[in-house]
Amino acid sequence: MAFMDAWVVDQPGPIDNHPLLRLQRDDPVPGPGQVRVKISCCGVCRTDLHLAEGDLPPKRPRVTPGHEVVGVVDAVGADARRFMIGDRVGVAWLGKTDGSCRFCRQGRENLCLHPTFTGWDVDGGYAAACLVDESFAYRLPDGLADETAAPLLCAGIIGYRALQRAAVPDGGRLGIYGFGGSAHLTAQIALAQGLRVHVLTRGEPNQALARELGVDSVGGPSDPPPEPLDGAILFAPAGELVPVALRALDRGGTLAMAGIWSSDIPTLNYDETLFQERQLVSVTANTRDDGETFLALAARLGVRATTVPYPMADANRALIDLKHGRFGGAAVLHV
Ligand SMILES: [Zn+2]
Ligand SMILES: [Zn+2]
Repeated sequence: MAFMDAWVVDQPGPIDNHPLLRLQRDDPVPGPGQVRVKISCCGVCRTDLHLAEGDLPPKRPRVTPGHEVVGVVDAVGADARRFMIGDRVGVAWLGKTDGSCRFCRQGRENLCLHPTFTGWDVDGGYAAACLVDESFAYRLPDGLADETAAPLLCAGIIGYRALQRAAVPDGGRLGIYGFGGSAHLTAQIALAQGLRVHVLTRGEPNQALARELGVDSVGGPSDPPPEPLDGAILFAPAGELVPVALRALDRGGTLAMAGIWSSDIPTLNYDETLFQERQLVSVTANTRDDGETFLALAARLGVRATTVPYPMADANRALIDLKHGRFGGAAVLHV
């Protein structure tokens, strides 16, 4: 049995106290229908930070985080036929579903009653290798480097679903609250589709990246956008921005909350925030169809992640920098 390096969430706690622990684990062995991925890089998602800090309760002790995994198949389990050894694949947040619950049967597998999430229920990509059920792995478009492909796998896919949920009509006005890894990819899709995009965020690196991408306006998180919004997406995990964003909507507009976790939402004044058929919706995981559609669209539209590389040995530092908003775009760990 060979060994590999892997990070685990030991005791969840403030990221500045380094709650991730690096240890040696047995190389994972693929079971039926699974493949093993020899990891080249893994994107850093805010969800990893929520897990490390204990905002999201651990599903099991000492899980390896990471669900934006790019690598090559280096072992296949029994009955796994979709990939050959050497194929490049991506591993994302939705690791498996039961396929049989009432939501899966309706094609809403993002709401599955018995889901398995990569880097929460099962070990993820902050390691030298991981396992994935072959039917939940993605083929990655050619012409995308591993590092730029990694953030597409969660930040990109979830942002794409959030954009659908915000239901902005053709040529309409989109507000983006918070501008990190997911938002900077979503903005590129929205601009390519001809929407007017207004970014409302704190953090100089984030504001600078938004300007670079050519959005229509950039302001602070509490600033009113220059025009009423048909739809908005809240990427920041900040419940206090919900009433701010709802007030920025035009009549009939929709605010989609993209995060897996949010701080509490303050009391909402009905007349100022919801009346006139404004809507508040959440975004929960994604279907494989969302993933395939987004990856094809990203390749066609030339969506490019702005990335900040870190060695895998610096996983804690990458999460600390994410927490404190020290970079624009998405951090990617390299094995
Ligand atoms: Zn299900
Ligand atoms: Zn994620």
